[in-house]
Amino acid sequence: MVKDQKFYDILGVAPDATEAQLKSAYKKGALKHHPDKNAHNPDAAEKFKDLSHAYEVLSDPEKRQIYDQYGEEGLEQGGGGGGMAAEDLFAQFFGGGGGPFGGMFGGGMREQGPKKARTISHVHKVSLEDIYRGKVSKLALQKSVICPKCDGRGGKEGAVKKCAGCDGRGMKHMMRQMGPMIQRFQTVCPDCQGEGEIIRDRDRCKQCNGKKTIIERKVLHVHVDRGVKSGHRIEFRGEGDQLPGVEPGDVVFEIEQKPHPRFQRKDDDLFYHAEVDLLTALAGGKIHIEHLDERWLTVDVIPGECITPGEVKVIRGQGMPSYRHHDHGNLYIQFDVKFPERLGGEDGAPMSEEQIKALESVLPPRAAAAAAPPTDAMVEDFTLETVDAAREGGRARGIAGSTDDDDDEMHPGAERVQCASQ
Ligand SMILES: [Zn+2]
Ligand SMILES: [Zn+2]
Repeated sequence: MVKDQKFYDILGVAPDATEAQLKSAYKKGALKHHPDKNAHNPDAAEKFKDLSHAYEVLSDPEKRQIYDQYGEEGLEQGGGGGGMAAEDLFAQFFGGGGGPFGGMFGGGMREQGPKKARTISHVHKVSLEDIYRGKVSKLALQKSVICPKCDGRGGKEGAVKKCAGCDGRGMKHMMRQMGPMIQRFQTVCPDCQGEGEIIRDRDRCKQCNGKKTIIERKVLHVHVDRGVKSGHRIEFRGEGDQLPGVEPGDVVFEIEQKPHPRFQRKDDDLFYHAEVDLLTALAGGKIHIEHLDERWLTVDVIPGECITPGEVKVIRGQGMPSYRHHDHGNLYIQFDVKFPERLGGEDGAPMSEEQIKALESVLPPRAAAAAAPPTDAMVEDFTLETVDAAREGGRARGIAGSTDDDDDEMHPGAERVQCASQ
């Protein structure tokens, strides 16, 4: 008869369940409720923790006995080591690696896979030019490798002894009187500091100083493929840290594209800002774009095409190479049209009759006539003055939003500038 059945209920088994039944119940439940699979369900995370805690207790024969006899309170008073984090238990159960699901589904279901050293992750920043052309980056990392002198034993052959205090487990059970009952709890073995082994100083390996591993510099060749995108991960399985008794860890590089001064990238397309003068926009000309592979693109603006400010044009196939396809995105060009300060002769002379006629011969007629006042309206004539920025201050910039001003609040004087000609 057990005192409390809660942990058994959490796992969905009977209090007389065998170890195998407990294990299979935990496995089923943990997979179903793992937070990686239930990102938007906080209940699942709670359930996952409960499952892990229940299994941690019931899978340990001593803890299970305490629980059966005294319930949860008995365990809490046991104190000491404290519970194992749910994720750690899960990782230990399924063999760890980078993220439990990656490791597990990638390598197939492993009943009790070997433990694995942690993954070394690094963000590799790459220029847009390098992504356009593709390159191989040589990246050096410091990693721990099994000491070649002692083959990871930490000392001379035969000199490394199993710790007698903990029987090599690194953890030790201690007894403590808790009121009417005697509690057993686990603690790190004080004789070997949790190592589980004892090496006499004179037998200790000189190269690794008994640590079993040494630090080594390793250069990895990271292939940055043409057209690769930010967030792409390049994995080197087993190239990470080596530790005695566990599988070597992995190294993962995540590609991050650096911002570019001329181009913006969106998927496989490139975006470019071109400033043209008014004459080119109206009467044609050429623009030159320095591409990402040392080519310059010369682009013809056809006379009379009339590029308007903000207009977007496209050059097909001049975007980024698409990753692992033999294809390219497009290059989109957005035009800014730079208007001249003024038109006319030298030294501020007004435009001549001929100049005006020349413009009138190619441009559409003036539209102002269409908005003319009614014939019976009272009419007064005015001319425009140039706004003196020093005198008008912020008002010289006009109504908010009509310029490329980054401050978008209405300027107090904006209205007055508009009305100044009345
Ligand atoms: Zn020990
Ligand atoms: Zn060594």
